[in-house]
Amino acid sequence: MKKLFQVMLALVLAASMTACTSTPSNTPSETTGDQGISGTFEGTGSGKGGEIKVSVTLENSKITAIEVTKHNESDIISEAMDMLAEEMITKNSTNVDSISGATLTSAGFKVAVGDAIDQSGATLVENEVAAHQPTAVEETYDVVIIGAGGAGMAAAITAAENGASVAVVEKLKMAAGSTLLSGAEMAAPGNWLQEEGEDSPEQLIEDMLVGGGNIADVDLVTTLANNALDAAEWLRDDIQVEWEDELMHFGGHSITRSLVPVGATGEEVMMKLRTKAEELGVVFYYDTKAESILMEEGKAVGVSGANTEGNGDTLTLHANNGVILATGGFGSSVEMREKYNPAYGEGYKSTDSVGSTGDGIVMAEAVGANLVDMEYIQTYPYCDPISGGLLYIDDARLYGHSIIVNKEGKRFVSELDTRDVMSNAILEQTGQVCYELIDSTAWASDKIEENHGGEVEYMFAMNQLVKADTLQEAAEFFGIDAAALEETVNNYNSYVESGVDEEFGRGSLNGKIETAPYYIVVATPAVHHTMGGVQINTEAQVIDTEGNVIDNLYAAGEVTGGIHGTNRLGSCAIADIMVFGRIAGANAAANK
Ligand code: ADP
Repeated sequence: MKKLFQVMLALVLAASMTACTSTPSNTPSETTGDQGISGTFEGTGSGKGGEIKVSVTLENSKITAIEVTKHNESDIISEAMDMLAEEMITKNSTNVDSISGATLTSAGFKVAVGDAIDQSGATLVENEVAAHQPTAVEETYDVVIIGAGGAGMAAAITAAENGASVAVVEKLKMAAGSTLLSGAEMAAPGNWLQEEGEDSPEQLIEDMLVGGGNIADVDLVTTLANNALDAAEWLRDDIQVEWEDELMHFGGHSITRSLVPVGATGEEVMMKLRTKAEELGVVFYYDTKAESILMEEGKAVGVSGANTEGNGDTLTLHANNGVILATGGFGSSVEMREKYNPAYGEGYKSTDSVGSTGDGIVMAEAVGANLVDMEYIQTYPYCDPISGGLLYIDDARLYGHSIIVNKEGKRFVSELDTRDVMSNAILEQTGQVCYELIDSTAWASDKIEENHGGEVEYMFAMNQLVKADTLQEAAEFFGIDAAALEETVNNYNSYVESGVDEEFGRGSLNGKIETAPYYIVVATPAVHHTMGGVQINTEAQVIDTEGNVIDNLYAAGEVTGGIHGTNRLGSCAIADIMVFGRIAGANAAANK
């Protein structure tokens, strides 16, 4: 068993890190000595979703075409490869910058193209690219939105549906944000998969308030809970998001109420939102970082920004009706984390988008906005110890047939407790890691391999995931006390039978751990959500330090504070960004 993993590790590391695998089937159609090399050559690399194969056409040692012939990257992320290909052709070089937000895909693509060039034997000479003449673009729209994550897209679509002309400024090359990287599950009380009368907004309000340490703004929580179902139906019916036909039960919720988009990642939601926004004529300014909110007589009247690659281009957008901040949180800024809560400094990796650096909070503060709950930073308990990436494999924990143990083979927390409680408990265990044991029933029914094949391949390759026929074998791979693990599983299965978790009071005991082969994945907490941010009212209007509304300035999503208290419950972020994104979009559009 161990040997197999060593071989896999060597293979995948070779492809995914820096090296590349050669493809012997390259057949140059024509090679002309002095003029350089011509022909079509194949190369291989490895991205986030596994193997990437490309076919590169050279004419006299100039790249004229790059075709991706095989990949398993998500649709949104795969667009990064088209962008890189275009730049490589323009420059006649593989020496181009990676696309932020698609780093693994970019690296794998560059390796694949480099491999094809190596196969060809060509020496590429970079094209001279004409010096860029900086431009200063200035336009006027009804509504200007900063940030093309989930909240920004919900706001943009709603504003456009209400008749406004809308522009979105996004500092990365694509509409994605942390929303894309999330599982995009959405808490929606009373949803179509629940029994009639089984759930209510009131029950969600109570769960959110208790889960957030009873400090959240009750009016904001109430607005979220009362509008979450409507937002989910809007996503389903208007945006055409498709949902799985099973709900998930997240920690801290008293009932199973969270909808799961097909594929169980943010891709389905973000792709469909972007398609809709484009259909409605929303204008996107990518690669453009908003730097300040333009104010006149106490009113927000626009946004100014600059090209992110330092080419000197500037952008000024005037907003007739309103500016909406939808810039996400600050999970990826170690500096801001240290400023507001030093406990979450450098020692933590982050699950968030590289774009989550708190820019909107800084811009809002500069125009007088009040900030609330800034010290509350949430870690996601189950992340890749190497990259900090959120582990989708962990979905199994929420469905059942799965437990969390420590190196000593013992459970130490309810697997359905809140994220803060679970994270703190993990950090107290040996090596500050935990081990998630998943049986084959969960593995198959949760579609772990089908939905998250790239992650599974990567985690196997990095020796962070094992599959074994017996519990003992799986335990030994990680040096877990195997006898203790077997006893723990027997005890847990008896709790499933009796319906009572005598040790940790886990609420939902759905499914014994009994079907081989068994999987164990190692995990540790990483920063996931920043609960604090700009204060808003229930109309998504930004509030200043004196408690007054800042005219024409709205905010929605993770950039805001006060909604989740000390700790956000799983699947409440999507409800939050959709509900308040739509409110901000509608109000800004109507704000003539
Ligand atoms: P939310 O879940 O609240 O929608 P996301 O993280 O999904 O938050 O999206 C926030 C988006 O805002 C990201 O795409 C991020 O790159 C973008 N963003 C952050 N700061 C700026 C800025 N200064 N200018 C333009 N876009 C920004």
